[in-house]
Amino acid sequence: MTYARMETLRTRKDAVGPALGIPSLTFRAWFEAQYGAQAYLDMGLIPRPMWMEYLVWYRRVLDLDVVNETAFAGLDFREDGLLALQVETGGQARKVFARRVVLATGLDGLGAPMQPEVANRVSPRFVKHGADLIDMALLKGKRVAIVGAGASAMDNAAAALEAGALRVDIFVRRPDIPRIDKFTGVGSQGMTHGYLGLPDADKWTYMVAGERAQIPPPRHSVQRVSRHPNAFFHVASPVDDLVEMGDGVEVVTPKGRYAADLVIFATGFSVDFGKRPEFAALRDRILLWQDVYTPPPGWEHAGIGASPYLGPAFEFRPKPDLDIATADAVSRISCFAYPAVPSHGKITSGIPSISEGATRLATGLTRSLFVEDRANHLDRFLGFDTPELLGDEWTDADLEEEVNRANG
Ligand SMILES: Cc1cc2nc3c(=O)[nH]c(=O)nc-3n(C[C@H](O)[C@H](O)[C@H](O)COP(=O)(O)OP(=O)(O)OC[C@H]3O[C@@H](n4cnc5c(N)ncnc54)[C@H](O)[C@@H]3O)c2cc1C
Repeated sequence: MTYARMETLRTRKDAVGPALGIPSLTFRAWFEAQYGAQAYLDMGLIPRPMWMEYLVWYRRVLDLDVVNETAFAGLDFREDGLLALQVETGGQARKVFARRVVLATGLDGLGAPMQPEVANRVSPRFVKHGADLIDMALLKGKRVAIVGAGASAMDNAAAALEAGALRVDIFVRRPDIPRIDKFTGVGSQGMTHGYLGLPDADKWTYMVAGERAQIPPPRHSVQRVSRHPNAFFHVASPVDDLVEMGDGVEVVTPKGRYAADLVIFATGFSVDFGKRPEFAALRDRILLWQDVYTPPPGWEHAGIGASPYLGPAFEFRPKPDLDIATADAVSRISCFAYPAVPSHGKITSGIPSISEGATRLATGLTRSLFVEDRANHLDRFLGFDTPELLGDEWTDADLEEEVNRANG
């Protein structure tokens, strides 16, 4: 409800999402209970604000213990094995202790919005990232440049146009806007459950080939832009330079120079610990893909190399030189955010397979806590003596015969 600017979700309406296999928890059940089955059939895609309403309902009916307005600010590893989280609510700092921590921090989960270096060549007042809060009403009558060709680029362009921008120029590096959504196209239960078992080389190939193909913006998002006569698409147009000109900037591409009052970079997110002080305890301690896998020539990819190399339940893996206590502490933290994708496939940060991802995470947490507490569990097992049978359900046939014989 802040920086997502699309009219509807991209995900098809019948994806079961976070319902965890419980039919009455699905978006469909929630929607039909209010508006009826026919209205559901008549709806194309889910309007974005309605998805938020559904999530608020989901939180309420499950009575989830969500604490708002609270920032996770840092983490300490304690000698007793507990993780100490520093959290801040309304300027008040406090500590929360936990045996396990799950980072579910989204698309920029371990990093930040990414902008090319050229964005720094002009005053920050001329530059925004697509994930920034932008008061679109202020763009009325302005010239807006958008850099990128993904969903966010289209959403930002459309929002600026609908707010009355004078013109919107969209700059795309490639000679064409990506057209094929490989990951959705080959999505299957096999992919959801099987990707984790692939050899590293296969995972790497999927990820790099997927990155190179890019994910196209939804067709309806592009049409939402192109129906405006003052929207201009420029392909094969990497932004080579930005130059301040009076009270605006010039966007320089191989094809020309374009005046703009604001440039919005819809250029994605990266793993970047330098930009996330709250994760300082993990920096240089967790195993990354670049530590364990060397791609064949021509298949290098710095962004995927910087992603965490996770264990089977999303747990971080420690770098080999750590002492045992620190290594154990690192592996008690899980990454259930977008940077988990190279290790686990697309089962985090996306509606279609989020339940399968959550189940894998919960199963892993349960297993590790059970193993950690195994002495207690074994004691409980050995000491358990609550009878199921009371002894009055059966009689010993031989014993009965003996009694009868004795009685004559
Ligand atoms: C424009 C846009 C459109 C999208 N459309 C779709 C779609 O149609 N279908 C789909 O499946 N996916 C879509 N996605 C992907 C989307 O990110 C995920 O589906 C979904 O939001 C992921 O949920 P999440 O809980 O993993 O992460 P998020 O929803 O990103 O939640 C992460 C949360 O962590 C919080 N956080 C981060 N750091 C801290 C900290 N230090 N302290 C406290 N809190 C912190 C953030 O504030 C945020 O609330 C879209 C993403 C974008 C940006």
